Amino acid sequence: MYKQCYCEQQNSLDSFSCITCKRQNHWPCYDYQITDKQPLEQRCLDCIFQASNPFKQIEHYVRFNNKKSKIFQIGKTVQEQQFSFTFEVNKYYEDIKKNQIILSIFCIKMKEQKQLFVWPSTNIEILVNERYQIKYHETDFAYVSPNNIVNGQNRIQLIFKDKNEYNSLFGILLVKNIEWQEVKQQIMDADKDQIEQIITQQKVFYFDKINKPNENSEESIDVQVQSNLSINLLDPFTQQQLQLPARGKNCQHVNCFDLNTFLIFNSQPNKCRWTCPYCHLTTAYDQIQIDYLQVRLLQDIKIDHPNIYYKIQKVSLNQIFQYQINPKLQKKQMSRKQSILNSQNLTQLIKINSKALEFENNQIQFEIVELQKRNNYTSAYITFKSAKKLIQKIKQKELLKNNIVKDTSELVKYFCNLFDLKYYDKFSVFDSQVDLQYLESQQDFELICKAIYENTVSGLFIYFIRFVTPSIKSFAQAIMQFSSHLKLSFKLNYQKKMLELFLAASYDKNEKYSQGYNFKVICSLCKVTNDEYTNHIIYLSQKLRTIFYNLNASSLFIVRNCINLSHMFDQDFIYNKLREDQDIYESSVETIKEIYSAQILKENPNVSEILALILYLLYRKDKIYENIWNQFNDYNLGNVKKKFKNLEYQNDFCYL
Ligand SMILES: [Zn+2]
Ligand SMILES: [Zn+2]
Ligand SMILES: [Zn+2]
Ligand SMILES: [Zn+2]
Repeated sequence: MYKQCYCEQQNSLDSFSCITCKRQNHWPCYDYQITDKQPLEQRCLDCIFQASNPFKQIEHYVRFNNKKSKIFQIGKTVQEQQFSFTFEVNKYYEDIKKNQIILSIFCIKMKEQKQLFVWPSTNIEILVNERYQIKYHETDFAYVSPNNIVNGQNRIQLIFKDKNEYNSLFGILLVKNIEWQEVKQQIMDADKDQIEQIITQQKVFYFDKINKPNENSEESIDVQVQSNLSINLLDPFTQQQLQLPARGKNCQHVNCFDLNTFLIFNSQPNKCRWTCPYCHLTTAYDQIQIDYLQVRLLQDIKIDHPNIYYKIQKVSLNQIFQYQINPKLQKKQMSRKQSILNSQNLTQLIKINSKALEFENNQIQFEIVELQKRNNYTSAYITFKSAKKLIQKIKQKELLKNNIVKDTSELVKYFCNLFDLKYYDKFSVFDSQVDLQYLESQQDFELICKAIYENTVSGLFIYFIRFVTPSIKSFAQAIMQFSSHLKLSFKLNYQKKMLELFLAASYDKNEKYSQGYNFKVICSLCKVTNDEYTNHIIYLSQKLRTIFYNLNASSLFIVRNCINLSHMFDQDFIYNKLREDQDIYESSVETIKEIYSAQILKENPNVSEILALILYLLYRKDKIYENIWNQFNDYNLGNVKKKFKNLEYQNDFCYL
């Protein structure tokens, strides 16, 4: 149904059309009288809520029993002025009790410059059913606990402490929680139908920046000065390389923030909510724009510089959109390439490539040969790049029949034939250029997995399987069949290498589940026994410790790594559900103590913080870990519960 203004009057007198949803609304309903100067652009009430807090979806406006309209206008007040409202939640009562729907109160200041949700004052007392005082943050709803309301008539009192002109709208809403990943998806989907136009606009934007005459010097006005444009690739919040670059639609700078970080940061109320970290313009949910040119740029950098891409913090762009990296890094890259050219790996890689080339006599091969020629048949990376290209084209041209895609064992056969793995030295299937030094230089757990998966044959295998079937379950099946096809054993020499494969496979780009969770699922589906699983955890944790020690990494990533580990310590195996809680508890404690011995903590005081956080996360996860810190009394961790009491924990994410 097409809805009009919240007052539900159909007339179009003195009305405006919402800048976002285009619905008609009345100026007087937004506290603008005929004599007031109206803004050129105005959001409607629903769109203000959506822009200010997209993590809450509006389900229903609750009507007042003692007022005519569902929204009440508050104008001037005197000191200690009280308003009283009664309402019922009726059929929503059960959902509220189950926390599926949240009763939320708003009092929103009109005529605000930012046009985002802000309370007119922090000094308003809210009382529910005479007894319960409800707290609120200036930029968010006031949330009422399900225990404070009854299934019948409820009463709300608003007490304005000061005499003032409030110009506000007051009402009660029922809202649902939306995960930040879903909000991100909505932002990405919004561009879908007009992506070509957006990219064209962004090209013009960059073109203007690159060719802009130097404004500071007068004589250059006539002379077109063409200078390179410098682009920062680090997220201003985390100082990590951008994953999904974005900025505000009104921002005039080229530098971006990372959309994931920005959404996580703004999912909680804070003083700088929805403020661009570069230019401080208000950048609400409906004003965020993904920068597709930088998305492409980051992809190119990764392909062109697979060993150092994560180190690149800045690039410069010339007039024809070619990028250049710091010459020092370039030099390092060259020497790295040289050493690989002399290595044994290369012969294997060239073998893969020639097999790939003879596989089908068509345009694909021609293109790859051209690519190789241009690189004098030398670069191993080009070989992997071309192998990936081959896989992509096979998919595009539907050379993979549907019945193959459904059968993982057929898929595995197809892959092994494609790259002639029969004659392959088994161990080199896993041979990676990821060495310990590389691990230490990395702070992001996920990046390590990406690195494993981008430079090995097994990584290529993961790429292939992921490309045709994304489910973790098919992954696990395919890994098992892959190993049996190559006669590899989980238990013998290849166990550690296999583990890296699991770890890389559990990297979930869309972050539906945490890596720790996916890892657990894969182990369980691959019938890894409980003891082996524990060994895996110990091995991984020891590797991860080298990353944890580097506390220059942003706290966000440390917390994420801890979440991954706390998942792994949680021994609740899917196929082992029958185990007693007590067993799970004891084996978790044992494993943790094995990894984080008192000795290690003495040598590395930083690690005690990490251990404390892991214990806290376990405590939040399940009742059985309620007093887990009692087992660690001799570790001097202090009062763990108190230390993290301000840490807000929602599903898999924490906010510090
Ligand atoms: Zn109206
Ligand atoms: Zn609207
Ligand atoms: Zn900005
Ligand atoms: Zn700020």
